[in-house]
Order: sequence, then C-alpha cells, then structure tokens
Amino acid sequence: MSKNIFDLDPERLATTDEFGNRVYLYPEDVKGVWKTRRKIFYWCLIVFYLVLPWFYINGKPALMINIFAREFTVLGSTLHGVEPILFFLILASGLFFIAFITSLFGRVWCGWACPQTVFISTIFMKVETLIEGKARQRRELDKAPLSLNKILRKSLKWLVFTAMSLHIAHTFVGYFIGPRELFYITMNAPSENLGIFIATMIATTVVLLDFGWFREQFCIIACPYGRMQSVAMDENSLVVAYDVKRGEPRRAETVDRANEGDCINCYNCVKVCPTGIDIRRGTQLECIACTQCIDACDDIMTKLKKPKGLIRYSSENEMNGKKRKMITPRSIVYIVISLFFVSSFIYFLNASTHLHLVFIRGKVPFQVIESGRTVVNQFTLKISHQGIQQFHANFSVKEPELKNSISIVTPAHPTVIHTPDKKIVVFFKFDPSILVLGSKKITIEVFDELTKHVVASEEVVLVGPTH
Ligand code: SF4
Ligand code: SF4
Repeated sequence: MSKNIFDLDPERLATTDEFGNRVYLYPEDVKGVWKTRRKIFYWCLIVFYLVLPWFYINGKPALMINIFAREFTVLGSTLHGVEPILFFLILASGLFFIAFITSLFGRVWCGWACPQTVFISTIFMKVETLIEGKARQRRELDKAPLSLNKILRKSLKWLVFTAMSLHIAHTFVGYFIGPRELFYITMNAPSENLGIFIATMIATTVVLLDFGWFREQFCIIACPYGRMQSVAMDENSLVVAYDVKRGEPRRAETVDRANEGDCINCYNCVKVCPTGIDIRRGTQLECIACTQCIDACDDIMTKLKKPKGLIRYSSENEMNGKKRKMITPRSIVYIVISLFFVSSFIYFLNASTHLHLVFIRGKVPFQVIESGRTVVNQFTLKISHQGIQQFHANFSVKEPELKNSISIVTPAHPTVIHTPDKKIVVFFKFDPSILVLGSKKITIEVFDELTKHVVASEEVVLVGPTH
C-alpha cells in the first residue's frame, strides 16, 4: 500500500526530504470559528500597523523611533536624547513581559500577532491562491514543466508580492524617519537620500523573500523568539494539543472499528498546518499555535456528529487529567522582573537631568544698535525635558574668551523649567568685533542655578555685518 504523503517521517522535519533539501509546503485553507476570529484580529492589526505611522497627535507621529537623534515619540509626546540605559530597560521589561504572557498562553504571539503570520496568511496566501489556485493546484503548477501559463502566473504573483513588499517596507521605514520625511524622500531622486533608499530596498527584499518564499523556514530555523518561548513554557502553559486519550487508537487497517478512537486519520490537521507538522505527535517546537488544525479537526468531528475539541487549546496538565494552574511561580518571577525593569525605567526617566535645546533664528537675522557698537541676534529657544525635575536654568557662553563680549538676555532669571516642552525668546547682544566674516559659532551652556551643574549645551551661530 502506498504511503500517504501527509504521513510524516518521524526522523526528520516535514519541510526537509531525505537529502536535507527543502520540501515546499502547500497548506490548505480552512474555515471555522478560530479562523474567523483570527481573520478579524489580523485585519485590525494590519490596519493598525499600516496606519499608525501616518497618524498625527499634537502635530507629531503617533509612533516614531528616531534612532539617530535618540528621539522616541509615542502618542504625541517625545522623549529627547533617550539614553541607552532607558532603551535597555524598556527592552528588558518587554522581553520579560513576553515571557510572562508566553508562560500563561504559550505561543500566542506567533499564531496571533507576529507580523510574518499576519501578513502571510491574510495577504500573501490570498494573492497566491487567487493567482495560482488552491493548495492542490499550486502543488501541480510547481511540478508542471515550464509553460506560458506557468510563466505568466508566477510572474504576476511575484509582481504583486513585490508591490506589497514595497508598501510594507516603506511603512516600516516610516516608523523610523516619520511619514512626512518619508513622503518627501519618496518624491525625490534616490540619489538625494541614498542611505534611506538602500535601507528601504533591503527591507523590501527581506519582506519579499521572507513572506513570499522563506515563510515557515524562518519560524523553524531562524526565529530566536521561537526558541525563547519553549524555555518560558511549562506544563501549565496553553498550547494547541491533540487529545490522545480520546483520539487513539486512530483509524487504521490494523485497528478494529469497534475499538478505534475518535481520530479517523484523515490527515486534515496536517494538510492545513503552515509549518507542516502532525500535532498528533505531541507539542512540537515548530507549532506556532495558529489554530488551523483545530478548525480542520472540528469540521471533521461535526461531520461525524462527535463533540468538537479533539484538537483544542489546552495545557499538558489538563490533557493528563490534572488541573491547570493559571499563575505559576515561573510566571510570577517573569512579571516581577518585568515590573522591576519598568519601575527602573520610570525612575531613570524622572531622574534624568537631560535637556534638549533647539535654537530657532528670528525672522530678522540681526540688528545693529548703539551706533554700530552692538549687534543683536534674536532666537526662539525650544527646551525639552523628559524628567519631572524642576530646573532654575541660567545661560552662559562656554568659550572663556567670549564671556565678556556676549550677553544673553532672557525674559526671566533664572528660567524655571518644569514642563516637558518650553519655549522662550533669547537675545544675544555682542560686540561685532568677535565676528569672523560676519558669523561666529559659540556654545551655550545651561546650568542649574541651584546645583550649579551644567545640564545641557548647544552650539549656535551668531551673525552680523561683514565689515
Ligand atoms: S483532523 Fe482530526 S480526525 Fe483528522 S487526522 Fe487530524 S486529529 Fe485525526
Ligand atoms: S500544529 Fe496546528 S496550531 Fe500548530 S502550527 Fe500546525 S496547524 Fe498551527
């Protein structure tokens, strides 16, 4: 009797043949309650992901991570000069929070929220099915010799994939440089912003190859998160599991019908699996908890008039007849460490003495007063502060040789800074003899009147007459 192609070899991955070459998967589509839930959730995520960087709050993008300027904008508020320690703390907190969620709900991220899963199953697979047909037709098309039909279908598919990848990659880059900047750059020649153009093209290539071709290989062999999750999980974590007690012995020629379990060995759970595994072999590292096999099996159980849930969300303990503990010492440790890092983040943020200064020159570059003996430059100074500390700021010129030649005039002495963003008008009055060819670059220091510590410095260019 010939072996069913879905009867997997126990000695190797479903995605490799006996020579170690990749076996391309053609997961079948499925309908069911979990598929509907995921579809709704996936579309919400896609809209959220694609719209978020274009959404403005208080004149700023809803989310922007400007790594080069060390600025982090979220929901209309910007943290300037974010110190590496803050990045570390928020990343560490996120990592342990994910470990906490994983210890409770297993690989919920992979199956429900990972951008790869979301985009492949909602958009890329849909396009592929539309152009190349259902799983069996796709398999036959790949096996078929080269023909005009094959060339046309493959070319069209990769053309649409490329267009979609370009859009996704541009949105991704938009999170780092801001949508207006991105729009401006896109409208100009690539040579004017070569670095960003190259970064966007690399992102497009990665998205195209990963979502269009590499797919489950990334989850199985490349994703570090997949490895980490297996460490965070235990026998109480929620997993997609096959009920061995109810299903076995599965239908087979050697099993008497009267004694067989509920599994009729139809392989539908294997046919729909995007990572090609057989969940009846127990929880496996390749399972991304996408619930496709739950729907496939529930459909069979409904047709057989048997209760659903032969494959279901459960825990190892529940499957062995024990009670599932919702909160375990492991999950408590994860959440405590995560909260510790969040608290440290808030502490360092509030204790921060960092001030961010931006000098904006007034409409009139300079004025000459006192019969040419004094030049005045007017600036608007934007001061941003990410902590809650109050500063009594005073300004001075850093260069010792210029201290007596330049006076800085502000509306109040000292200037009290207690809000995240403050704007003041600053006048520089100076002797024109300090200018070289009509300009002079100086450094302004801001020091706290109470502690006498310098809390920020910024360069500013003074201008005046050239003679
Ligand atoms: S879909 Fe259900 S009945 Fe069919 S092989 Fe899988 S577990 Fe058995
Ligand atoms: S075994 Fe089931 S839940 Fe796991 S990846 Fe395959 S189809 Fe998804």
